[in-house]
Amino acid sequence: MSYIAEYIWVDGTKPTAKLRSKARILDDGAEAPIWGFDGSSTNQAPGDASDVVLKPVLVVPDPIRGGDNVLVMTETLLTDMTPHPTNTRAGCAAAAEKYGKFDTWFGLEQEYTFFEGLKPLGWPDNGFPAPQGGYYCGVGADEIFGRPIVDTHMQACIDAGLHISGINAEVMPGQWEFQIGPVTAPRVADELWLARWLLYRIAEDFTGDSGVAVSVKLAPKPVPGDWNGAGCHTNFSTKQMRGSFDACIAAAEALGTKHDLHIKNYGAGIENRLTGAHETARYDKFSYGVSNRGASVRIPWQVEKDGKGYIEDRRPNANCDPYTVTRLIIETVCGAASK
Ligand code: ADP
Ligand code: MN
Ligand code: MN
Ligand code: MN
Repeated sequence: MSYIAEYIWVDGTKPTAKLRSKARILDDGAEAPIWGFDGSSTNQAPGDASDVVLKPVLVVPDPIRGGDNVLVMTETLLTDMTPHPTNTRAGCAAAAEKYGKFDTWFGLEQEYTFFEGLKPLGWPDNGFPAPQGGYYCGVGADEIFGRPIVDTHMQACIDAGLHISGINAEVMPGQWEFQIGPVTAPRVADELWLARWLLYRIAEDFTGDSGVAVSVKLAPKPVPGDWNGAGCHTNFSTKQMRGSFDACIAAAEALGTKHDLHIKNYGAGIENRLTGAHETARYDKFSYGVSNRGASVRIPWQVEKDGKGYIEDRRPNANCDPYTVTRLIIETVCGAASK
């Protein structure tokens, strides 16, 4: 029997890369080999030198097709087998390797919004739903939109062997979150991209009230005005932080020294989300604090109480590249701790 391998990669679309995938039939017992694609169709190559190489980095059971079929997360290479310029994983893997003794763990909180056509799922055709307040972790058909998709996705992530650690309904109706981690980089980012792909793919099979298929958006500010944006809070710890509160504070201080660099690389449109309102700190000011959801970096109360643990970088956008976010955190925090 042959089986189906769905090859998934991150493309070169600017300013926010997109996921692409295509299927390949493999002989029973064969391992997923190196493959390739037409980079001129993905903003990754000129037409006269269009071949881009796909190198498998993580193979998991395909929870949608089932059976022996697999999903293959890949990284992109040039034909000389060096990383493609749009391959941000290579830099992440190099930083993780360089600072390997820090054993950095990441827990990524991916927020996202369901859309039905042009409006968020469950929103009225004209005007707005009741203001925010009752939707976060809500229950009931007047508050919750898309739960069957969320539950199907959560189970699919488990069946694929991803380290999904939970889901919750968010503050804006039609907005949700799932968490991946704690896992080391770059694997945590491989898993996040796979979980995003599964979410897009699973939502294709569901329709809203109007019969239009549901789409998923990682837009950082999907609805302007008094509606929460969507982020990708990045919780992380080093071995030292898991044993010392001082190391947690030192990590927060280190992030403060490179604030602009991080903001520039935490996702397009970040200024529209980090306004200082809606549980955010302004994009042009760095702050950290215990339990403070209005700070750039939050130290959970339990961490202060235990005197050790992890901290939460609340700045990354929902549309961030997790390879880049985790690389920067490793370089900034472990770099400072190595001085
Ligand atoms: P919030 O209260 O901000 O909504 P969540 O429960 O959504 O927090 O997410 C917290 C994340 O932090 C989870 O993904 C969890 O796995 C992760 N996490 C817990 N402990 C650690 C740790 N020591 N290092 C890194 N991440 C951690
Ligand atoms: Mn959360
Ligand atoms: Mn959240
Ligand atoms: Mn959070």
